[in-house]
Amino acid sequence: MASSRQASQELATRLVRDDIRALSAYHVPPATGMIKLDAMENPYPLPEELVRDWSRLAARQQFNRYPDPHASELAAAIRGQAGIGDDLGLLFGNGSDEIIQMLALALARPGASLLSVEPGFVMYRMIAGFCGLDYQGVSLRASDFALDMPALLDAIQRHRPALIFLAYPNNPTGNLFAETELLQIVQAAPGLVVVDEAYEPFASRTFMPFLGQFPNLLVMRTLSKFGLAGLRVGYLAGPRSFIDELDKLRLPYNLNVLSQQAALCALRHAPLFAEQARLIRASRTQLQRDLATLPGFQVFASEANFLLCRTAPGQAEVIFDGLLEAGVLIKKLHGSHPLLTDCLRITVGTPQENQALLAALQGLF
Ligand SMILES: *Cc1c(COP(=O)(O)O)cnc(C)c1O
Repeated sequence: MASSRQASQELATRLVRDDIRALSAYHVPPATGMIKLDAMENPYPLPEELVRDWSRLAARQQFNRYPDPHASELAAAIRGQAGIGDDLGLLFGNGSDEIIQMLALALARPGASLLSVEPGFVMYRMIAGFCGLDYQGVSLRASDFALDMPALLDAIQRHRPALIFLAYPNNPTGNLFAETELLQIVQAAPGLVVVDEAYEPFASRTFMPFLGQFPNLLVMRTLSKFGLAGLRVGYLAGPRSFIDELDKLRLPYNLNVLSQQAALCALRHAPLFAEQARLIRASRTQLQRDLATLPGFQVFASEANFLLCRTAPGQAEVIFDGLLEAGVLIKKLHGSHPLLTDCLRITVGTPQENQALLAALQGLF
C-alpha cells in the first residue's frame, strides 16, 4: 500500500503540470454552526410556496434521461426576465465560474492575455492560469477603487488583451465603475469585454441595454447572489458570433435536470426574490451606518450585498479572529492585496444576523 501511494505520488509529480502542482486548492473555511457572512450568499431561506412547487416539479423529473442540452425552457425565461433579445446569443454555465473558463479556453491562443482590475474577483486570474492565458491585473485607484483610466488604457495598448473582465459592481470593493469610463474601455479594447453583473440584484445600474451596440461587449450574470448559490446557474449574453463559438466547447449537459427545473421555478417566483433583494439593500444601508460608528472603521459605499470596511491600522486580523471566536464568519482581505490593507468584507445578512455581528463587534472594543 505504502509503495503504491509513493508510486502514484511520483506519477503525479511527473504528469501534472508544474503550475498546477504549485497551486494551493481553493480554500473554503468550515462554517458549521456559524453566522455565515463571508461568501455573499442570500441569507434568506427559500419561500415556502416555492419549496412546495419545487418538490412537485422534482418528483416529476426523469432522472434516467439526460437533461435538455440547451436548457431551452430556462433560456426563454431568462431572456424574458433579463430583456435579452432574440438577436443576441445566450449561453449557460454551471455557475458563472464555468463561463469564465469557457471564455478563457476559447481565447487561449499562444501569447493571448486576460486583463482585469485589482483588487478584483480572484477567479479571473486563477482560470486564466489554468487555461494558459497570460494574466494582467491593473490596480484600481487607491483612494476610491475607481478605474485608473490612464493605467488601464496604457495596459490595453501594451498587452492587446483577448479578454477583459470587469465586475459591475466590483468584488471585493462593492462599487460600480463609471459607465462612461467602462464604455471607453469597451471601445479601446481590441478583444472581448465581459461585464460581470453577479451583484446586479443589489445594484442600481446594468450594462444589459448596451448589448448589441458594440461588437465586443458581453454581459455575464449568475443566480448565485440572487439567492440560489447552490444551483450553480450562470449565463452570458452577447453577440451570437461569439456565443455560438463558445457553445461548441461547452460540455453538453453542463446544467443538470434539477438545476434547470429549479431555476425555472425560481424565475416564476421572481417577485419573492426581488423582495429579498429589497430587504438586503435596506439592511445594507442600516449596516453601513452601524458599522461606521465603530471606532476606527471606514465603510465604503456598496452597490452589492456586502460591505468593504477598513479598520484602524493593524486591527483587521484581531477583529476577524475575535468574530470567529464569537461564531461570526466574515472575510479577511488584509494581506490579499496592497490596496486592501486593514480591510474586511462583510456580507449583508438578515437583520438578526447583522445585529449579532454588531454585538460581537462591540464586544471587541
Ligand atoms: C460570486 C461571483 C460570481 C459568481 O460565480 P458563480 O460561479 O456564478 O457562483 C461571479 N463573479 C463575481 C465577481 C462574483 O463575486
